[in-house]
Amino acid sequence: MNHTLRILRADILGYCMGVRRAVEAAEQALLESPVRPVYTYGPLIHNRQAIENLASKGIVTLEAGDGDELPRDFGGASVIIRAHGVPPEERSVLETRNARIVDATCPRVVSSQKRARSYYERGYAVYLAGDRNHGEIAGIAGYAPGCVVLENERDVERLEELPGRAVLISQTTIKQAEYDAIADALARRVSELVVLSTICPATLERQRALEELASRVEAVIVVGGLHSANTQRLFLTARSLCPHSWHIETPEEIPAEISRYSSVGITAGASTPDETIDAVEQALQKVYYSGDSTHS
Ligand code: SF4
Repeated sequence: MNHTLRILRADILGYCMGVRRAVEAAEQALLESPVRPVYTYGPLIHNRQAIENLASKGIVTLEAGDGDELPRDFGGASVIIRAHGVPPEERSVLETRNARIVDATCPRVVSSQKRARSYYERGYAVYLAGDRNHGEIAGIAGYAPGCVVLENERDVERLEELPGRAVLISQTTIKQAEYDAIADALARRVSELVVLSTICPATLERQRALEELASRVEAVIVVGGLHSANTQRLFLTARSLCPHSWHIETPEEIPAEISRYSSVGITAGASTPDETIDAVEQALQKVYYSGDSTHS
């Protein structure tokens, strides 16, 4: 085949601000740390290639939340707290075990933690909307002892005793419609309810950029971890807009039939490294004898 392929990138794709900060903090700690290895408290990022890349540089991923599995004495080694943050008691465990803490908690998550603590101290009942098994929710919950996690409206209906006044805080990555449904259900049962706007725009920005991209190409490649929730959501959107869409982790997974299309769009989840996106773009160019790559 000898025709030109137009490759367009979504205007917004790949690492969000919080993930980029955390990866950069880990790399910086590696440069500065006199004690090796450098640890991350839980996986820094939901992307296998990125974790393998960090491991090859000397960054060791610890199991978060299980004190028994942690070293008894870090000997002054650096431990990176990931963008999701941690409950204060887990941070204390690290400190008492002689870790040099590098706090890469995303500023948006720090804000949620502080607001949870502030309302808790003022006597509000604190409700968190999100996934109760997610590290971010566990971290925020640590700042408001006794808070209740609500995953959906049915969880609100199941509540037996409700307070007179309460605050609702969301996981940063919850969908707006799901948050609104939980807030509405809670507002029907709590007379004084403060609903905080804590959803991060990163996911929506990538979705919107994908919608714009999909209107301009014949096929879409979504790059990112197969287990990354936000990448999976991007792929669902891509498929609904463009039947010729694929979700891949690495350039080797580019489907052979991509060569049937004369224009291909690339997007990537918030945990996909720049290097992986670049490698996919370069591999797409090689699919054709002559390639013309333009950025949207
Ligand atoms: S999605 Fe938003 S809140 Fe979460 S780490 Fe990224 S920038 Fe921070």
